Amino acid sequence: MTDEKESNDFLLVPALVGIVVLLLLKVFYDLYRKLTKSHHEVYFVMMGEPECCNPNDRNMNPGNNCRKYCMGKLLLKIMNRINGAKSSICVAMYNFSNHRLADCLLRAHRRGVKIRLVTDKSTCESGENKTQAKRLKDAGISVRISGEDDKLMHHKFCLIDGTSPKGVLITGSLNWTYGGLSKNCENVAFISNGRVQQFYREAFDHIWNKFSTPYYPRTSNV
Ligand SMILES: [Zn+2]
Repeated sequence: MTDEKESNDFLLVPALVGIVVLLLLKVFYDLYRKLTKSHHEVYFVMMGEPECCNPNDRNMNPGNNCRKYCMGKLLLKIMNRINGAKSSICVAMYNFSNHRLADCLLRAHRRGVKIRLVTDKSTCESGENKTQAKRLKDAGISVRISGEDDKLMHHKFCLIDGTSPKGVLITGSLNWTYGGLSKNCENVAFISNGRVQQFYREAFDHIWNKFSTPYYPRTSNV
């Protein structure tokens, strides 16, 4: 009888170890699936296409009847993603003049989303783009400028909730300008993928820390 009990105890330990190992494997597998979960959407807009929704019209209402390359649909998609941001937005945008996208960033900032914007020095010193950078900075958003002479900060990407599996990377050819959203040929990809988001997050931090300086508008241009 005693021998039988000892034998059962002897089997109990490896059985428990096996269960713990299986549970750990399940946890790691779920984490792996979460990190490698991937979803993407790609948008193109084409110059010369008949317009169905004007991105500069606040009352535009893109729907199922929109043309394939609808610029309004693209703008609304970007706006919706910014409006859905929960914790952080990193924007590296060579040229940023679109006030509707700036409005979205301002609203996100007001609801507590941590926003960082790095834009290029050359575009930042001219007209509309300077206005948006100044607006955002005046509202308390961290704005930095990068680039020097012909060495441009030429990125056009926005990482929303980059450390979350529900985050999204928005990247492509599109500058956040009126021209980009009304007359050019552009492409924009919306990518939700943990590893890709991490690459962009690291690259953004690198630019932010090593290749940019705080943006202070010159008073003569204000
Ligand atoms: Zn449309």
